[in-house]
Amino acid sequence: MSQDLYDLLGVARDADADTIKKAYRKLARQLHPDVNPDPATQEKFKEVSHAYEVLSDAQKRQAYDRGGDPFGGGFGAGGGQGAGFSFTDIMDAFFGGQGGQGGGGRGPKSRVRRGQDALIRIEVDLAEAAFGVSRELKVDTAVVCTTCHGDGAAPGSEPVACETCRGVGEVAHVQRSFLGEVRTLRPCAACRGFGSIIPEPCRECSGDGRVRSRRTLTVKIPAGVDTGTRVQLSEQGEVGPGGGPAGDLYVEIHVAEHDVFNRHGNDLHCTVSVPMTAAALGTTLTLPTLEADVESGAGSGVETEFELDIAPGTQSGTEQVLRGRGVPGLRGGRGDLIVTIAVETPGKLDARQEELLRELAAVRGEESPDGQVRSGQQKSVFGRFFGH
Ligand code: ZN
Repeated sequence: MSQDLYDLLGVARDADADTIKKAYRKLARQLHPDVNPDPATQEKFKEVSHAYEVLSDAQKRQAYDRGGDPFGGGFGAGGGQGAGFSFTDIMDAFFGGQGGQGGGGRGPKSRVRRGQDALIRIEVDLAEAAFGVSRELKVDTAVVCTTCHGDGAAPGSEPVACETCRGVGEVAHVQRSFLGEVRTLRPCAACRGFGSIIPEPCRECSGDGRVRSRRTLTVKIPAGVDTGTRVQLSEQGEVGPGGGPAGDLYVEIHVAEHDVFNRHGNDLHCTVSVPMTAAALGTTLTLPTLEADVESGAGSGVETEFELDIAPGTQSGTEQVLRGRGVPGLRGGRGDLIVTIAVETPGKLDARQEELLRELAAVRGEESPDGQVRSGQQKSVFGRFFGH
C-alpha cells in the first residue's frame, strides 16, 4: 500500500510524462482484468492505475513528490476511483476501441516530440569523393530556445493542468443511440490534447520551445562515396517541439564530373591519345593520377603521376588495366584504372612528312591497300550479320 508510486510503474523519479504514460500502458495491458481476471492481478492493476493517476497529473505529482497524499485519504477505499480523475476514462482511452488517433494509446499528448530529420545535398569533386574530405556546412535548423530551455513557458511561469479535461487531454462525449449510450473520447479542445496549458508562452519562441538558427558544422565525407551516398549525422537535424530530441541530418553526396576520369563503380576510365608514330614505335608516357587533384603538402608520399608503357605496335582502342589505381571502396579495396589508347593519325602534313609517309607506304606495300572487313573486335556488328 505504501509502495513508492514510481517503483510501481518502474520509472525513474525524473521520468517525463511520456515515459510514465508508456510504462503505465505496458503494465495495464498485462494486468487488465479482461486479460487476467485473477484477484491478485486485479489488485496490482488498481495499484498501478492509482500510481499513474497521480504521476500523470502535474499537480498531484508535485504534491506526491513533496510527501503529501494527493487525495487526502487512504488509497483503496474508492477502489481506485480517485477524485477528479475518472478511472474509467483511462480505461476507455486504452481499451475502449475508439481508435480515434491512429490506433495508438491515448491520454494526454506530450508537448515534447522528436525533431524532423533534414536532408542537404552537397557537391564534391571526384578526388574528394575517392579519398574523403571534411566540409564545413551552414545549416538552417531549429535549436532549443535558450530563453525557456524548451518548455515553452515564459521565464518565471509554468504550464498548468488544463481545467477542462483535468489534465487527461481528452473529454468524454456521450451520445444516445438505439444501441444505448455511446461514449467517445475526443482530444480536449481547450488544451489541444496536451492536458496542460501554457498561460504565458515564452516570447522568444512563441511557446514552441525552439527557435530557427543557422549553425555551422563540419561533416567528414568518408573515402569511396559516390553520387547518391547519404552520410548520416545523428541528432544534427532540427530540435523537436517542446525542445524534443533533435532529428538526424543526412548529407547527400553528388560527385561532379571530372574532365579526365570517368567513374564506373570503383573503376576509373580515361582515354590517352598517342601519335601514330609513338603507337607504332612504342613509348612511355607520364600521366597524372587522381591523387594529383588533392592538395597535399610536400613529402606527403602521395603519387601524383604514373608511367604508362605503350608497347610498339599498339592499336587504337587498346585497353590497359592498372590494378588498384581506381577509387577506394567504402568497405575497403580499390578499383582499377582502365586506360584506353587512342592513336592519332596526323592531320596536316607538310611536304617532307608526306614524302616520308609515302616512302614508308611503298616499303610496306601499302600504296593501294584493300579495306579489310574483320570480325574480331567488331564481332558485335559483323559477326552477327555474317553468321560468325
Ligand atoms: Zn522559448
